[in-house]
Amino acid sequence: MKNKQTIISSVNELLIKKFGIPKRNKVLPNPLDLLLATILSQNTNDNNSYKAFQNLKSRYKSWEELLSVKRTEIENVIRVAGLAKQKSEAIKNLITELNKRGTLSLNFVKELDNNFAIEQLTEFKGVGVKTASCVLLFALDRNVCPVDTHVHRTINRIGIVSEKTPDKTFLELNKNFPEGIAHSFHTNLIRLGREICKPANPSCGVCPLIKICKYKDKNLKIKAAGKQREFMLLDNVG
Ligand code: SF4
Repeated sequence: MKNKQTIISSVNELLIKKFGIPKRNKVLPNPLDLLLATILSQNTNDNNSYKAFQNLKSRYKSWEELLSVKRTEIENVIRVAGLAKQKSEAIKNLITELNKRGTLSLNFVKELDNNFAIEQLTEFKGVGVKTASCVLLFALDRNVCPVDTHVHRTINRIGIVSEKTPDKTFLELNKNFPEGIAHSFHTNLIRLGREICKPANPSCGVCPLIKICKYKDKNLKIKAAGKQREFMLLDNVG
């Protein structure tokens, strides 16, 4: 059996053949902006979390203003993203904690290696491994592949890892991850999970990975893939 790195590289190439190289802004977003957007993106779709992020950006001239507004006001501003109470608590806590450290910035993370950066970011209430790793990939251009439910499901079905939770999948997947492909691999895998390798009834008949995928219950009946949704929130923060 081929080693994990070779399989990851093959999957990446097959996904690029199917979906292309994902678009990416030339200018990386500010890490704090990206973290706030990622908090807003939890358990909702990209369009709603993008609206909530734009609401926050247009309502406040700077993130310093969040220090003096009530949490309930933030909750109202971001309501479209869902779980507004929980997310507003995480945002208020993050801004308050950063302020205690003397600056509303996550630039300190730029100096840290990946593991320590994730350790530091997950100390903030409401920031988990997935959210922290999104900051590393999308704002710092680190070669780290965040694992959400789509990535967790597809990676385990393909047989690259065999893990029960997204955080365990993240740890296994990112050990010696092949250089320079994390962004395209992550983004195209999410697209595969949304359009083809869905939780129920994956459309294996149109899947570009069918020859290398180890999933035992392949569904060959469904021919058409789902509707394409090209908008990805974290590539549009700024
Ligand atoms: S072959 Fe089927 S189970 Fe495997 S990745 Fe493709 S859609 Fe998912």
